[in-house]
Amino acid sequence: MEGSRQLIGSWLRCYRCWSQELEVQVHYEGIHRIDPATGERAEVVDEIQEAVVQCLDCMHDQPHLGFHNGRIEPIEDRWERMVAGTPWVASCAVTVDADAVETCSGPEAADALAFAAFGDNGTREFFTHVRYHKHDEDQIVVHLLVELYARSLDEATLVLEDAARGSLTITSLAEESRPPATTGGEHPH
Ligand SMILES: [Zn+2]
Repeated sequence: MEGSRQLIGSWLRCYRCWSQELEVQVHYEGIHRIDPATGERAEVVDEIQEAVVQCLDCMHDQPHLGFHNGRIEPIEDRWERMVAGTPWVASCAVTVDADAVETCSGPEAADALAFAAFGDNGTREFFTHVRYHKHDEDQIVVHLLVELYARSLDEATLVLEDAARGSLTITSLAEESRPPATTGGEHPH
C-alpha cells in the first residue's frame, strides 16, 4: 500500500494513468433576462451546466472529478478508491424488471441495459460491456462484463452490490494489472 498512500491527497489526476494533464469540457445552456438599460445579460431564468473531465494522455473520462464554481473538485466516496485502486473485472448478471429497461434493441440498447443494471455507475463510471440479455416473463436478466476500480476484492464486491439495481450474481471477479502510469514531465507547482 506504500504507493497508494502517496496518492492520498493527490486526487487531481487521471485515475487510470495518474497523469495530471487534464481538460474539462463545459457545456452551458442558460436563459437570462436582458437588462433594458444596458442590453447586458442579467439575472438567470434557467441554466444547465454539464462538465466532463478528461485525461489528455489516455483520453478517458474522469468520473471521480466534478466541476463546481469554476474549479475541479474530488467526488468524495469515489476518488480514493479509483485513484489508489486497481482495475477489477467482473462477469456478472443483474435481474431487473423489464419496465426498468428503456429499450433492449437497437443502437441505444447497450446503454439502456447497462443503466438498468447499474444506474449511473454502469454508464458513467464502470467500463460496461453487455454480453447478452434474456427475457424471463416480466423480468430481464442482463449479462455483463464490468471493469471497475477498487482497492480490494471486498471493496470491488461492495461497489458492485451497491450499484446493482436488481439482484446481482457475480460469476467471477478478478484483479487486472493497472495501465502504466504516464512518465510525463514535472508536476506543476
Ligand atoms: Zn489518463
